[in-house]
Amino acid sequence: MEKHKVVIVGSGPAGYTAAIYAARANMSPVMVMGMEPGGQLMQTNDVENYPGYPEGIMGPEMMEDFKKQAERFGTDIQHGLVTKVDFSKRPFTLTIDDEREMLAESVILSTGATAKYLGLPSEQRLMGMGVSACATCDGFFYRGKEVALVGAGDSACEEALYLSNLCTTVHMIIRRDEMRASKIMQERVLKTENIKIYWNTETDEVLGEKDVTGVRVVNNKTQEKQDIAIHGFFVAIGHKPNSDFLVDWLDLDEAGYVITKPGSTKTKIEGVFACGDLQDSIYRQAVTAAGTGCMAALDAERFISEQE
Ligand code: NDP
Repeated sequence: MEKHKVVIVGSGPAGYTAAIYAARANMSPVMVMGMEPGGQLMQTNDVENYPGYPEGIMGPEMMEDFKKQAERFGTDIQHGLVTKVDFSKRPFTLTIDDEREMLAESVILSTGATAKYLGLPSEQRLMGMGVSACATCDGFFYRGKEVALVGAGDSACEEALYLSNLCTTVHMIIRRDEMRASKIMQERVLKTENIKIYWNTETDEVLGEKDVTGVRVVNNKTQEKQDIAIHGFFVAIGHKPNSDFLVDWLDLDEAGYVITKPGSTKTKIEGVFACGDLQDSIYRQAVTAAGTGCMAALDAERFISEQE
């Protein structure tokens, strides 16, 4: 069976950065790309907040650059999904697509998280054309315009406040008659004049042909429908870390994020490291993911050299 010094699982900014550092440290990394090669940025249009791109860059193009840079230093990038891991002894065993296995002296996990969406066909159709799950990434495109935002947790409140500084009105669509968010966040939202709250309200349909032009909402008490004219439709109903295949091995928090030792990317298993959104429920930015990817490669390199 093939055996490697380090296998990187997942191909977003964290995974590619780990690959660049590990390859340049002569660790001959292998990357298994996962279900969504390139990660969440593949669904983003312009990225304007990643340092080094003064004119901005398209998300997929940026990920292609990350990939080329990782390949340039010799990363072996393979298609496939890691479906099972065995961390009971070293070398660790990874099963790919339920059909082949590889051995790894160390593993860097960077499988990211997936933003949850409502699951409406109209939402799917207008993805990237006004529908977004990241206000920090895309809010800027709607400055001076009206937007809607779904959700009532801390993320939704944070995003609503962020958008309220850019947009004329933020229509906040909340399915119950109360918010899940912490009191302080709720108070901030309620005090913000240009955030208009719709209680007991759900999204019926996102409107628009090529771009979002509005949203049809329905009051779930009265069944009354209403169309709101907007340009951007933000979904902030939570993220799900892609950690299902790790539950038997690592400590996860109640939302499924991998718990790492503070100030490092070490998990509770020596030689297994986690980086990027898989272990970060707070910042979730491409640049912070890349930063922890670098940390994971340095941690793995130190681990391997200690073993040798
Ligand atoms: P949460 O799970 O806390 O909140 C999700 C929100 O989305 C809830 O209001 C929920 O409604 C709503 N929702 C879920 N599904 C739907 C749906 N189908 N239609 C409409 N609404 C829906 O996720 P967050 O991402 O907000 O937060 C995750 C964790 O991260 C939390 O622990 C949070 O406290 C933390 N966090 C902390 C921050 C901070 O401290 N600054 C910032 C951001 C996050 P309902 O309430 O009805 O279930």
